[in-house]
Amino acid sequence: MGDDCLSGNRGLLNELGKKALIVTGRHSAKQNGALGDLVKTLEANGQSYCLFDKVMSNPTVDCAFEAADLCGGCDFLVAIGGGSPMDAAKVAAALAVNPIAKPAIFSTTFTSALPIVAIPTTAGTGSEVTPNAILTNDAAQTKTSVASPALFPRFAFLDAKYMSSLPQVVTVNTAIDALSHAVEGMLAVRSSVISDPLAKASIRAIAECFGPIAGNNPGKEVRQKLLWASTLGGMVIANTGTTAVHAMGYQLTYHKHIDHGRANGLLLGAYLRFVAEKEKAQGTNRIGEILAALDLGSLEDFSARLDILLGPREKVDAAALEGYAEKAFQAKNIANSTIKPEKADLLAVLQQSFR
Ligand code: ZN
Repeated sequence: MGDDCLSGNRGLLNELGKKALIVTGRHSAKQNGALGDLVKTLEANGQSYCLFDKVMSNPTVDCAFEAADLCGGCDFLVAIGGGSPMDAAKVAAALAVNPIAKPAIFSTTFTSALPIVAIPTTAGTGSEVTPNAILTNDAAQTKTSVASPALFPRFAFLDAKYMSSLPQVVTVNTAIDALSHAVEGMLAVRSSVISDPLAKASIRAIAECFGPIAGNNPGKEVRQKLLWASTLGGMVIANTGTTAVHAMGYQLTYHKHIDHGRANGLLLGAYLRFVAEKEKAQGTNRIGEILAALDLGSLEDFSARLDILLGPREKVDAAALEGYAEKAFQAKNIANSTIKPEKADLLAVLQQSFR
């Protein structure tokens, strides 16, 4: 992590082979300077590359297979972008050495992949430190994770300069995604003495940025803090997985095209109130620990902070919400929630979030 950490550590890329497949989206990597820096670094190493720059947001299975088709002759992949290019690259890296048919993508457990290098250009997903890749799953009408330890990136280079011109809405949505990872990590069955301190540090750092990101350009120091916090959030979910918030959020993204981080943010307030209510009955207080890390006195304060960042909410009709609750209830992240919601609880959270 740090200024010019990619060119400053170019020897690391040399370990990975002679030719790279660069995986990115259509525009951003060219505009923010990351692609130019990477190309210069590879050239300085005497390494060659080819470019796949067609990753869309919420990448499809087709997209990952298309990227995999270009892997012939490549020794490693470098993903530049937000979660979408990183996730598409991870799946392509696995497909490059494990050719399978498309319908088997979500039922295959990959045990090997080409090495992956991640250069995040948003501060939210944490995909640069996770073994997960999330793809649009049209057959199941949701987003589904392809997960394997083989998908952990070998190296991640965190340089906040690539974020200096991110639009405010992207800064906010990605920060809320990172916050959701850390918060959900504390409410996950697999939370532990390893993940909790990472989650609290991430929550604390993001809460310190609430004020600056509500304004226009938050500046370099805040960008660096968000990038650090989102990577910590990624380390959290690499250990814990996500919970019911992400399960419901995927429905909002799939059906209503609401950005992933925003979708989680819209649900977070009502979900934490549901958990707090249940905790009262069983005498636990994880919500108290989360509020302490946020340095806020109550969940009402937290919801008010989120509302400032999220602005007016989308309208979603009642029948659609029932369908989302039904679908979300089938997701495996539900069983990973320490306080396991019933289908009716999910519906209530969705209803409260879109009143
Ligand atoms: Zn997420």
